[in-house]
Order: sequence, then C-alpha cells, then structure tokens
Amino acid sequence: METADVVIIGSGIVGSSVAYHLAQAGCANVLVIEREAHQGKGSTGKSMGGVRAQFSTPVNIQMSKYSIDFFSKFDEVVGHPADYRAHGYLFCATTETHLAYLKANRERQIALGVTNVEWVSPEDIAKMVPQLRMDDILGGTFCPTDGFVDPHSVMMGFMLNARERGARLWLDTQVTGIEVDAGSADVSSALGGPNAVSKQSADGTSAFPALDARRISGVQTSRGFISTRVVVNAAGAWAAEVARMAGAELPVEPLRRQLVPTEPFDQLPKRFPMVIDMSTGFHFRREGKGILLAWNDPEETLGFKTDFDSSFVEKILTHAASRVPVLAEAEVNPRRAWAGLYEMTPDHHAIIGPSPNVQGLYFVNGFSGHGVMHSPASGRITADLILQGHSDLIDATQLSVERFREGKLLEETAVL
Ligand SMILES: Cc1cc2nc3c(=O)[nH]c(=O)nc-3n(C[C@H](O)[C@H](O)[C@H](O)COP(=O)(O)OP(=O)(O)OC[C@H]3O[C@@H](n4cnc5c(N)ncnc54)[C@H](O)[C@@H]3O)c2cc1C
Repeated sequence: METADVVIIGSGIVGSSVAYHLAQAGCANVLVIEREAHQGKGSTGKSMGGVRAQFSTPVNIQMSKYSIDFFSKFDEVVGHPADYRAHGYLFCATTETHLAYLKANRERQIALGVTNVEWVSPEDIAKMVPQLRMDDILGGTFCPTDGFVDPHSVMMGFMLNARERGARLWLDTQVTGIEVDAGSADVSSALGGPNAVSKQSADGTSAFPALDARRISGVQTSRGFISTRVVVNAAGAWAAEVARMAGAELPVEPLRRQLVPTEPFDQLPKRFPMVIDMSTGFHFRREGKGILLAWNDPEETLGFKTDFDSSFVEKILTHAASRVPVLAEAEVNPRRAWAGLYEMTPDHHAIIGPSPNVQGLYFVNGFSGHGVMHSPASGRITADLILQGHSDLIDATQLSVERFREGKLLEETAVL
C-alpha cells in the first residue's frame, strides 16, 4: 500500500508552495495529487500574476510583505525563475473617500513595515502614464515593489525544488474520497514533530480549538488508496467539494473572472505600473507587446463557469476607453481572452489551518483573488502549522475556518 506523511490535494501554485516549504523543513515524504495531466490547469494558469502589498487588513499586508520579499530572491533561493517584475501598482483615487481610504491603508502598510508606499499627486500620476484621462483624478498611492510574477514559473519552481528534495507528484490522478476513522492518535507521530493540533501556547491554552476524535486515515484516488495521517486541501475553487469528502464544511465558492489582452499596442509606455482606476475598478498592465485589461463585473454570479463571455469585451473596453482614451484604438481578438475562477470566501481572506472537526486535515484555500501573490506566505504558514502547530510569520488562528462560526470576519475591501 502507498503511504505518505502528507498528501497534498492540488498541484497549483498553493499546493506546490506547501510541498516546497514542507520539503525545505525536512518533511520530504510528501505526495502531491493532481487530477489534470499537467500542472496549472486550475486558477493558477489563468491568473494575471499581480503581486502587491497595498492591502487594507494587517494580515493581508503581512502575507504580501513576506511573499514579495520571497519573490525578490526566488530565483536564487528556489533555483528556478519567478520572473518577478517590480513595476509597481498605482492606485488612482477619484473621490475624497478614495483618498481617505488610501491614506488609512498607507498608514497601516507603513506601520507593518511596508515603508515604500508613496503618496502621489495628479502630476506624478500623469508623468507615470501620460495617456490617462486626468480630469477627475485627485491623487493616489504607488508602491514600487508591487508588480508581477509569472504564476506558471513560480508554481513549477516550487514543485521542481520540492521534487529535488524527495516530494512526489502524481498527475492524472483524481482524489475521489478521504477516509477518516475514530481515534485520537497524535497526528505528528507520523511526522516526528510536536503535535500540531493539540499544541499548547505559553499561557497553557490551545492555539486552535480542540478536535473531536475523527482523524484522517487515507485518501482514495483513481490510482488506489494512499495511507496518510495528514491531508492538505489545496484544491483551489474545488476546495469545498474536497472538504466534504472528509465530512468538513468549507465556505469557498467559485466566481468567474475574465481577462482581455489587446493585440500589440505601442501607444502606452513600454514599462508602466499596474494602474487601478478606483472609480470603476478597471485595471490594466503591459503584457508583452500588448496590454492586459481586467475588470471585475459586479453582475457576475457564483458558479463553475470557465467559458469566456464575448459580451464582456464591450463592457471592459468602455471602461478602458473612458480612463485611457487611446485604448479605444486597441485591437482585441475575443478568442485570445480567457476566464478563470476566483475561490471566494465570505470575508475575502484565505482560510489557512487545521479543520476543527477532522484531525489531520488542513485547509489552504479561499484566496479570493490573491492566491498567486500570497503563495509563498501560505505555503510557509501551512508547513509551520503541520510541523510545529504555530507559525511565527503571522497569528494563523485569525485565518482559521472557525472565524465564520465565531463571527470574527476580516473584511478586505482592496479586492481587485
Ligand atoms: C482571471 C484571474 C486573474 C487572477 N489574477 C490574480 C493576480 O493578479 N494575483 C493573484 O495573486 N491572484 C490572482 N488570481 C487568483 C489566483 O490565480 C488563485 O488564487 C490561485 O491560482 C489559487 O491557486 P491554487 O493552487 O489554490 O488553485 P489552482 O491553481 O486552481 O489549483 C488547484 C488544483 O487542484 C486540482 N484539484 C481539484 N480537485 C481535485 C481532486 N479532487 N483531485 C485532484 N486534484 C484536484 C485542480 O485540478 C487544480 O490544478 C487570479 C485568478 C483569475 C481566475
């Protein structure tokens, strides 16, 4: 019978990062299971690759700070390229409310060590992107270390490095069930570390709520049964379905997001930041010779929809031409546009940590549009929780799935 210390379900950027961080920490008997024939067929391959520290909540700012620092040395540390481009994110405010919001966020960002977020005037903005319609722009913020990565390269880098250290990847293998049994065995006995789930904090209270007696015993797959005591749910938009296999509830729902690339377009600078028009949420950046256009349609409804809706082109081009008049001249081939899924939670924050009612089941899900940029931090936090029961990076209890039952939601408003 196959056995593994840890089985990770899903080989996207998040599952790959968890495998990397576990292997780095010396836990190499890790098996990653992916139902597709190639990695990156889920949301990771559809992402815009944006990375930013300009968030509104402390936990998102902290996760970005760690992750962006990691991306800046990824090639050296992981041994594979991330294609991190520090071109910045430029938020453009058009109301006093936007300005107050950016000001409050910037103060929080600086207090948490992201000290390079600059306050920019309309004149500064016009210098960065002279083609913007400026009549209603009042100012904004710019962080030069925000920017982009290549999500596919990051995912491959994490996984290649993990495999070099002994982790295994099974492609073309569907997880069809998760077996649980009664008992109270120490999850960590399989890993040789402290008991992650019953670890006591300094004041003698448990860092996480007590678990009932159900514990993971293995995973059923299209290639047979794998015996394990630890399962990581890294199944992206499909995470709720995977959680249900173990009898656990996870509030993660799929929401379609669509991106539209233009044909080669030279009327915007060769290099400029990700620009966010706060009046509509329209944002854009350079992608090769063309421009990548993004806008989150408020009329979009939840569901596993991955087809591109051609009527979206007209909607997004209206916003594009309104803010950047020269974009009215850009050519768009709808066949090159695409759609993918955000994995949404009710408070737009990730869920990271142990399941409260199935011992040995860990969640690293629900990134609500930020899974690429937060992949280094989330992999590190998950590995820490499995191996030592806590993480020095952040207080992970705030990302526990328990927050929804306890009413301790963390509302992030800077969602793009
Ligand atoms: C259009 C778009 C733009 C985005 N832009 C950004 C951005 O700019 N910046 C950013 O940070 N994030 C962005 N995101 C979000 C980001 O792409 C996701 O948060 C991230 O890719 C999630 O990674 P993941 O590994 O959790 O999920 P995925 O990449 O979806 O991987 C999950 C994997 O699990 C596998 N799986 C599921 N169920 C099973 C099963 N039963 N058995 C075996 N395998 C299974 C799937 O096949 C899949 O490969 C964007 C997303 C979209 C759709």
